[in-house]
Amino acid sequence: MKTKFIFITGGVLSSLGKGLAAASIGALLKARGLKVTIQKLDPYINVDPGTMNPFQHGEVYVTDDGAETDLDLGHYERYLGESLSQKNNYTSGSIYNRVITKERRGDYLGGTVQVIPHVTDEIKNAILGLAEDEPDVALIEIGGTVGDIEGLPFLEAIRQLRGDLGKDHCLYVHLTLVPYLKAAGEHKTKPTQHSVKELRSIGIQPDIILCRCEKAISVDLKRKIALFCDVDQDAVFSSVDVDNIYEVPLRFYEEGFDQKIAIMLRLPAKNANLESWETLIHTCSHPEGQVTIGIVGKYVDLKEAYKSLHEALIHGGVANKVKVNLRYVNSEEITEANVAEKLAGCDGILVPGGFGHRGVEGKIRSIRHAREHRIPFFGICLGMQCAVIEYARNVLGLADANSEEFNELTDNKVIYLMTEWYDFRKGAVERRDASSDKGGTLRLGAYPCVVVPGTRAWDAYGAERVDERHRHRFEFNKAYFEAMAEKGLVFSGLSPDGELVEIVELPDHPWFLGCQFHPEFKSNPMRPHPLFREFIKAAKKEAMGGKKGK
Ligand code: GLN
Repeated sequence: MKTKFIFITGGVLSSLGKGLAAASIGALLKARGLKVTIQKLDPYINVDPGTMNPFQHGEVYVTDDGAETDLDLGHYERYLGESLSQKNNYTSGSIYNRVITKERRGDYLGGTVQVIPHVTDEIKNAILGLAEDEPDVALIEIGGTVGDIEGLPFLEAIRQLRGDLGKDHCLYVHLTLVPYLKAAGEHKTKPTQHSVKELRSIGIQPDIILCRCEKAISVDLKRKIALFCDVDQDAVFSSVDVDNIYEVPLRFYEEGFDQKIAIMLRLPAKNANLESWETLIHTCSHPEGQVTIGIVGKYVDLKEAYKSLHEALIHGGVANKVKVNLRYVNSEEITEANVAEKLAGCDGILVPGGFGHRGVEGKIRSIRHAREHRIPFFGICLGMQCAVIEYARNVLGLADANSEEFNELTDNKVIYLMTEWYDFRKGAVERRDASSDKGGTLRLGAYPCVVVPGTRAWDAYGAERVDERHRHRFEFNKAYFEAMAEKGLVFSGLSPDGELVEIVELPDHPWFLGCQFHPEFKSNPMRPHPLFREFIKAAKKEAMGGKKGK
């Protein structure tokens, strides 16, 4: 087999940045001219994170093919600049689901179905499936921490793969924590030793140890870790805290990380071309100014819930050479009386996606503030739906306008549940049933959108037709199309058959745009998304005194 596999495990504790480390290794190998793919294996039982509360799990990332995945896939796509799919993320739940389906079908011919070999074989199939497109390297990140009971089948599967694939097709990278004890004035290696011991007890000897640390660790310390953990002395690397996450590939390169991987896996010797990463970091560290964006949302206490959004705004800043300061404002706390105060100092206001009625009125009030005070506004998914509700209530005078999601009984459902529509991705008529199971009724994944010439959306995209990713149930109600258009709302993006409204905007405003899709999923530091670029451009204008001129 051509494909070489790199397995990334984590030890000591969670949140060490395993996803970013995996994505950065991928970026480095890609910069060496290799074809790279990457996969996340999550030990939880949910079949996918779609049904999980963002408060617990963070953002649900959506791929072009409509898979609801772990947010690490967002890092992977941003660092690799490639579109991933369903086969790049499996959970224990999805693996067991396959095994149980086979068992019910009688595929196991009366055998006893067990974790080893049936579950581990299914995991191996999921991993080896990556080789179908013949990448040079496939990176596999195992979620969770070594020592967790639920991660064991995954670790057992990757242990077996070394035997199946051979030594120079398999590499184990273990990420651990090397804390710095201020009182003792030194780094401590004991947690790393214990974590490696744990890994070895299940039969995996790491090849490379990556040490997450506040500051770079010394050669002596690397030597000590190498000795205790039985790895090459030049196979211990540090993953130092950085201000900007896009610096990680450059830091890894400086330590020779990709070089070591290439030697161990017998990959072609070639220097990594990191010019675009260097330019990116240079732009980020030399901003011409700064803008403050107010994000009016519900999950403000858990920044992970808006991970891609956060990154896309930073990318918009890169495109405009400004630093973007994000201010999260809890929509549940916004009232008529305090809206101006809560949003004071924001050069742009963004209402992101969300589910459920909590905080919706605060979002609608904030949008009115942005519209009336001519502050650049960007509404995404629920944010766009709220912008439509706000317009219907305050410009069309439909005081009871709402989304069917929040008020099933209102006479003016400007946002409603469409029960039948033509699905351009599937190429068939799709039927939504309000009573069907929760995971199944969303419009998910990439759908085409036709952009109307002469609009802001057109200015941003410079293209007639774009594909954007969706994750929602409700849609704009076309019964209100004409009335809203008459009052000045411009429908600047529609599905190819004109039935679904994808983008709305206001021409008589510095920048006011809402989209039914999630553009943040397709933004990339090297290719900032056009809508984020234009939104930040408008915010920059606002910050530089555009307002004073009015
Ligand atoms: N709750 C809304 C819907 O289901 C919006 C979803 C979202 O913002 N992702 O249509």
